[in-house]
Amino acid sequence: MAVIGIMSAMHEELAAVLAAMPDEQRVRVAGRDFWVGHWQGHAVVAVLSRIGKVAAATTATVLIERFGVSQMVFTGVAGGLGAGVNVGDVVLARSLVQHDMDASPLFPRHEVPLYGRSRFETDAGLSASLRQAVQAVLAHVQQHVGPEAVTEFALHSVRLHEGLIASGDRFVSTTAECRSLQQALPEALAVEMEGAAVAQVCADYGVPFAALRTISDRADDDAHADFSRFIRSVASRYSVAMLSQWLSAESA
Ligand code: SAH
Repeated sequence: MAVIGIMSAMHEELAAVLAAMPDEQRVRVAGRDFWVGHWQGHAVVAVLSRIGKVAAATTATVLIERFGVSQMVFTGVAGGLGAGVNVGDVVLARSLVQHDMDASPLFPRHEVPLYGRSRFETDAGLSASLRQAVQAVLAHVQQHVGPEAVTEFALHSVRLHEGLIASGDRFVSTTAECRSLQQALPEALAVEMEGAAVAQVCADYGVPFAALRTISDRADDDAHADFSRFIRSVASRYSVAMLSQWLSAESA
């Protein structure tokens, strides 16, 4: 049976996933708690990614080497960079880049040395089935987060975006830094701190990978505002609903 790895960036998201798994068993490896069990009839290992590229890469490697996962899905929050990528929207990655990788002049800026490329693609088939789940959830946002959250975070016309996600070891929370990222990577839709590292590990092992991020902020001077409230009342509910919808539509 295929084993699905689910990496959550935030505690609240993992808690929501674990609440939906009937039989999870904790296995401790590399100082991390991996939760092995089932969800919607699928064999699943759920884990907190930990924050930052190196921590997330270690978590992904253990999922593959120790738990034999054959598909990897990442959920978390991210800052919106692209025009019209707003709080409450969801970004499904087509490819990911490390915005803080720069071995120039030896290699072009953003290129990962010895890989000959800067972008790591997500799996088209896996992303296509997740897309349907995201669309189904976004069509009924109020049902998943409640009317108060819809009003508080202005979730009246949330959208799904697909494209490039930029990752780096920095919480981007100034307008100046946001602008310089937009200039360096004009096609980037969102910025976060783990995805490109996990994409690289999955590419190394040939494991299909998909990444889903709910926009929690605009990566500007207001980026810290209501961050934890948003994760609790919106992002973690989206994530569990989208994953649950996706798994129920997949054959085990
Ligand atoms: N203040 C938060 C910090 C969490 S780190 C806390 O107390 O927990 C931010 C997490 O959200 C990372 O997993 C990262 O991937 C993502 N993220 C959300 N917005 C981001 C932004 N503007 N820049 C970088 N990462 C962001």
